[in-house]
Amino acid sequence: MVMYAYRDKARKVKVLARNALKEDKGNRFYCPNSLCDAHMYIVIKEGVSASYFAGRGHLDDCFYHSKSNSFRPANFNEHEFDFNNALMALTQKGKSQSNKLTSDKHSSGPVVPKPLRTIRQIYDMCKSHDCSDTYNGVTVGQMLLSDDSAKMYTSGVEGWRLIESQRKLPKFYVLETMEIHLIAPVAKKKYTFILKFTDAKLFREIKDWIYANRYHIFIVAGDWSSSNSANVFSAYISAKNQLTMIK
Ligand SMILES: [Zn+2]
Repeated sequence: MVMYAYRDKARKVKVLARNALKEDKGNRFYCPNSLCDAHMYIVIKEGVSASYFAGRGHLDDCFYHSKSNSFRPANFNEHEFDFNNALMALTQKGKSQSNKLTSDKHSSGPVVPKPLRTIRQIYDMCKSHDCSDTYNGVTVGQMLLSDDSAKMYTSGVEGWRLIESQRKLPKFYVLETMEIHLIAPVAKKKYTFILKFTDAKLFREIKDWIYANRYHIFIVAGDWSSSNSANVFSAYISAKNQLTMIK
């Protein structure tokens, strides 16, 4: 679900779903994707952050199309979401990352929503919000480095973050040092991100997976630290759960 949209075709006036007014009901809003001419409208629900934008006529590959974006606010417990802990959990090998919904078939009590857990759930939440918006008190743009949020990173990209990246050209890996080189954000290409490995098998698997999907966008969760060169950051990758891709 999309938590913001634009009031005008030029995308100058942004409206967060939670700030939309009753009078906005029935008005046409515009998709955050400037290439997409979907007719968006506000769905007002009781509750502070329950309202959202729905749309008709999205481009097939528009991220704000409900089929490409799994974020449903009511399915997750926002107040228990701790971004750093959630990313740290992704680095733990062998931790189950099944995407089963928040209900447990064996219990008969009411369904209790759980916090966001997989990288895809966290990414979809970030992309559904404007980067200046917050989720459980944390600014969304501080969780995800993207072309929209890049302006918020005035002193580099350090600490736990998701990055929206592409492989670095002409060569995106270094066999000798077991490194994968990515570039982010996708359009601005401002930073190089070096993925480091201690597990040779994991390095090979991720390198081959990136090559097989080389024209796609890669989302990586890492605890980034700066290197000796300006605008270059690195993080260790210890589990596949730290990466996903979008087409
Ligand atoms: Zn759209």
